Amino acid sequence: MSNLELTSDAPADANDGAWLACIECGETFAPFDAVRYTCDHCDGLLEVRYSDLPTWDDFREDERGVWRYAAALPFEEGVSLPEGDTPLHEVPGLEEELGLARLRVKHEGMNPTGSFKDRGMTVGVRVAQEVGVDRLACASTGNTSAALAAYGARGGMETLVLLPAGKVAAGKVAQASLHGARILEVDGNFDTCLDIVQELAGMGEAYLLNSLNPFRLEGQKTIGLEILEQFRDEEGSYPDRIALPVGNAGNTAALYKCFRELVESGAMEESEMPKLTGVQAEHSAPMVEAIEHGWDEIERWDEVETRATAIRIGNPVNAPKALPGIRETDGTAVAVTDEEITDAQRALAGEGVGVEPASAASIAGVRKLREEGEIAADEQVVCLTTGHLLKDPDAAAEAGVDPEPVPGDTEGVLETLND
Ligand SMILES: *Cc1c(COP(=O)(O)O)cnc(C)c1O
Ligand SMILES: [Zn+2]
Repeated sequence: MSNLELTSDAPADANDGAWLACIECGETFAPFDAVRYTCDHCDGLLEVRYSDLPTWDDFREDERGVWRYAAALPFEEGVSLPEGDTPLHEVPGLEEELGLARLRVKHEGMNPTGSFKDRGMTVGVRVAQEVGVDRLACASTGNTSAALAAYGARGGMETLVLLPAGKVAAGKVAQASLHGARILEVDGNFDTCLDIVQELAGMGEAYLLNSLNPFRLEGQKTIGLEILEQFRDEEGSYPDRIALPVGNAGNTAALYKCFRELVESGAMEESEMPKLTGVQAEHSAPMVEAIEHGWDEIERWDEVETRATAIRIGNPVNAPKALPGIRETDGTAVAVTDEEITDAQRALAGEGVGVEPASAASIAGVRKLREEGEIAADEQVVCLTTGHLLKDPDAAAEAGVDPEPVPGDTEGVLETLND
């Protein structure tokens, strides 16, 4: 079982009350003395720990977005564009169709580069400055590369991205390209890209900013803080459930850490933790498999496929943090088909909320769990939509209606309209 207990005293080499701890063996490390992504002793995942955990009053009144929550982060400020402060949309049509007491959509596609990855990057690039590296790298299904390229450019650093050839949505490659990343298209899937970039990082070639990097998850933790604050301010309570698409399971891990820290600081009751509900595409669903079988670890899927390319991942690296998160919050995981994802993408678009396919998986998953009776009618649910519609213009065009050719005169246009 993972060592996710937060209560331990700061080690002597903590930096300003922050340090790293291995979630498997409990070993602690100074946070910025060396570049380190996993435990020196057992290769387990690392987590950032703090000697002081904030309550709601400790967050900045004068600030919105990620850095409002500086009291929960290892720095006061970072390389910022700025990020966070995304809308929590009402979707009355979907709320009624799904038969839920409340349904809200936290649209992370409204971040500067169009996905939640910006929240992790603002913190991650700040850490890169602290440890003194000048070349950043990631493997990516697309959005991480767009965020890395933009934040690296903003921070004046060189950026290198490894993408699975032919499997990245057009908008994302365009962003990485224009922001000046060096883009390598790898003959392999995302998991192969991550294997390679991890080895490059291990050789000191670049600073790794995939979600294996525990500092990125600190930034992403603020999604949870924002949802809880926004929902509480509007509804007077926290949501019962948060549903989200799962790729590498970084967000699932980050949200669980957010909840644990709030419980530990006394800002939230343990019984108030929203049920984390992970959604995967049916042919890329190792987390769902592990949850359904009650396994403590995932089994890597070598062949994965889905139209939702952002979650086309067979080896979710953050599973050791995310599986306990789903279990301890009494949540679940569910797989949906590409068709169900596209239906959900259309339904969201029909409410004015434009998302890319992976994001719509959250709604598709809730719809399925509602049908199966797993989610009750009296529940208050927040769905996380992770990326913007324009990220994947091809998927949007396929899911939408076709333009109709008309002649270049009013008469001809009228004729078509009256057809
Ligand atoms: C990265 C990404 C995901 C997957 O998030 P994880 O934290 O890796 O599970 C889902 N949707 C979109 C749009 C993404 O960019
Ligand atoms: Zn360890």
